[in-house]
Amino acid sequence: MNIYVDFDDCLCESGRFFSGLAADMFGKNVPYEEMRFFNLQQAFRLTDEEYRELLIRGHEDEMLLSIEETPGASAVLNEWIRRGENVTVITGRPYRTYEVSRLWLDRHGLGDVQLLLMDKYGREDHTVKADFILEPEDYYRMKFDCAVEDSPSAFRFFGHLPELKVLVFERPWNRETELPGNNFIRCSGWETIRAITAGEPGC
Ligand SMILES: [Mg+2]
Repeated sequence: MNIYVDFDDCLCESGRFFSGLAADMFGKNVPYEEMRFFNLQQAFRLTDEEYRELLIRGHEDEMLLSIEETPGASAVLNEWIRRGENVTVITGRPYRTYEVSRLWLDRHGLGDVQLLLMDKYGREDHTVKADFILEPEDYYRMKFDCAVEDSPSAFRFFGHLPELKVLVFERPWNRETELPGNNFIRCSGWETIRAITAGEPGC
């Protein structure tokens, strides 16, 4: 079984982290539970300049390393790997964060998980090449049985796989989103994901 796993807000608590950072940097008090938008500029009502500064500060190495693991994430991924599943973390983080993102996974017991960076949100220079960069044309040649994703903006990457089971990691910014199909299933956390995927062929 091939499993796609998103990184931020699936493996780690990035939304909570950015909520705290926006408060510290700009005095924007939008608690995690009130983050109604996946886009951080909208979520915290930031100016263009504030948003730019937030992303720069928030993607510094020590900042990314400080983000807490989502409870149960590494346990479930390691159970899948022990079961022989092929698990790939595919994140839309900036390419320059590869090394620190890899280090975060290693520090959280996820050293055996493959990490690929794909420009999900159109932010990158596509002349940059590296083994860890997943170009969309290569992504669309991959086959997945199951995906774990929180961002409604990323659902478009699953449209070509109607059989794919998409486990939507529930977050405040996707609670009111209309899901694109019956193959999308809301999951409140890793215990639910574990239960849904336990012993099921094809996830
Ligand atoms: Mg995410």
